[in-house]
Amino acid sequence: MALLVKKYGGTSVGSVERIEGVAARIAAAHRDGHQIVVVVSAMAGETNRLVALARTVQERPDPRELDVVLATGEQVTIGLLSMALAKRGVAARSFLGAQVPIRTDDAYTKARILEIDTGAIRATLASGTVAVVAGFQGIDAGGSVTTLGRGGSDTTAVALAVALDAGECQIYTDVDGVYTTDPRVEPRAARLGRITFEEMLELASLGAKVLQIRAVEFASKYRVPIRVLSAFDDGPGTLIAPEEAHAEMEQPLISGVAFNRDEAKITVLEVPDRPGIAHRLLGPVSEANIEVDMIVQNVSHDREKTDFTFTVHRAEYGRAMELVEPVARQLGARQVIGDDRIVKISLVGVGMRSHAGIASKMFGALAEEGINIQMISTSEIKISVVVDEKYLELGVRALHSAFELERDPGRRERSGTLEKAREDQN
Ligand code: ADP
Ligand code: ASP
Ligand code: MG
Repeated sequence: MALLVKKYGGTSVGSVERIEGVAARIAAAHRDGHQIVVVVSAMAGETNRLVALARTVQERPDPRELDVVLATGEQVTIGLLSMALAKRGVAARSFLGAQVPIRTDDAYTKARILEIDTGAIRATLASGTVAVVAGFQGIDAGGSVTTLGRGGSDTTAVALAVALDAGECQIYTDVDGVYTTDPRVEPRAARLGRITFEEMLELASLGAKVLQIRAVEFASKYRVPIRVLSAFDDGPGTLIAPEEAHAEMEQPLISGVAFNRDEAKITVLEVPDRPGIAHRLLGPVSEANIEVDMIVQNVSHDREKTDFTFTVHRAEYGRAMELVEPVARQLGARQVIGDDRIVKISLVGVGMRSHAGIASKMFGALAEEGINIQMISTSEIKISVVVDEKYLELGVRALHSAFELERDPGRRERSGTLEKAREDQN
């Protein structure tokens, strides 16, 4: 008998039929004698609908009240799934975040989990009942409802797996594992049998939305493996776990290609090149809680002036422009220009550490397709480039094929699951 934490995402509970399907699978695992905690998301599209609904009332919704609205999506699915289990003769009890309780800070819409009181869930499990927990939500010290940021049900599941000391956290979704890139962009992408926390952190932070980055951070910190599995078919999925000792030899160079469509860049042209400029330009941006990603300061044209470029999330582009323009004017810069039609494509792999030449091969593959690179940034296990958004698909496919990611049958097997999930959806 094991204690299992299983999370089902929006598509997997996207209709009553799908919820019945999840219930049938949970009932089978329960019959096998396991103690089960199920975490569910809202039905597919529901959280987007709620965001849009709130915006019809208030253009920039009050964050506390927005969370009250957003948290309702998961309240529906925990109730329905518990009923579907009961109908199958499996005792089940639903828990809102506040009923667990999952305690968070009060950073509404992006709250962090501080503590989980496991008493009520443990008592439920001890009586042979399945605990069905609402993902994505918690409660702050003042008793207000909070949400954990989009995709946050993954983090609820991992945090529960940590708090309950489960052996691994199982994330069921509409793909049957983590792929070398998003299979919706490159159908030849291959499933990874195993990937390190470090690589998954990079992939998630560079845009692979298969797991919320905080979930991976949590799992990595507490060394709890995550397994990403298909909600519809059986299969081994992808294990996300610590780097195996002595495995260096078998590490492929590159594990995947990630991309982020939500980028925008701002360039301050001909700003005086003197100490403190970066601080003056970016200070107001960071004070406004706008996250800055890549930063490039060019070598001075003429020792006195330089161009300064940085990227932000596309949704914050307008605000960032408003903040930078007055400072640039004060500093005597020639002009501020921006572009919100850019994307970032990144190559990730721990094997990169020990191999030179990856960057030049990457740039060569993009050049061959006539894709102009606007910015470059590197770290130990990733290389990112910013390109025009019209090159996203072409760029991802070019890199996927240049690094032969569709091959390597030892570690990767293909699967038809995605196609099937898509057909079911249509
Ligand atoms: P859920 O609703 O179950 O949380 P998400 O939509 O959040 O599911 O995440 C699953 C999706 O992530 C897949 O449908 C896929 O399009 C996308 N994705 C992006 N990058 C990858 C990748 N490298 N491997 C697998 N899926 C990926
Ligand atoms: N329902 C939330 C969202 O759409 C949380 C999640 O699905 O993980 O972001
Ligand atoms: Mg998700």
